[in-house]
Amino acid sequence: MRSVRGSAKGWANARRKANQRRNPKSTKDTMGCYVRRNFKLSDLGYASYQDYLASEEWKRIRKRKLQRHPKCLLCDRPSCQVHHLSYDERTLLGMLSVLLVALCEECHHGIEFDGNRKRTLEEANQELRRLAILRPDLERWRLTINRARKDFIFPWPR
Ligand SMILES: [Zn+2]
Repeated sequence: MRSVRGSAKGWANARRKANQRRNPKSTKDTMGCYVRRNFKLSDLGYASYQDYLASEEWKRIRKRKLQRHPKCLLCDRPSCQVHHLSYDERTLLGMLSVLLVALCEECHHGIEFDGNRKRTLEEANQELRRLAILRPDLERWRLTINRARKDFIFPWPR
């Protein structure tokens, strides 16, 4: 069997990967969001997303967010997980706390998975937004996130 490398398809794949790396703002492709996130984390010195989640840096960012937001945004039960609305460098490093959302495990799983299928970041954010719209008391939060779109590029529906 012919090797993929050197074939037209191989080059197209290599070009697509190079574009993904150069173009972290694009949210059009499906799971590319996680590929770009992992490239970004690699640039920041993390071996993997698991490595990032296990780091002292993330533990500190997560703890601070949960202390400030002890209740799940969506259901008011105790929060224990933090959702990234964006995988840009500043959010990953905790410098953009507004793009981190404190949730309970159940709500976080509910927005990140559609049954067994892992949603893209854009789809997960869409689901979070859909659920937040059902809560009139979250309008201020939604306005804050909508406003953040003026300053930061992240997958959030208009
Ligand atoms: Zn919840």
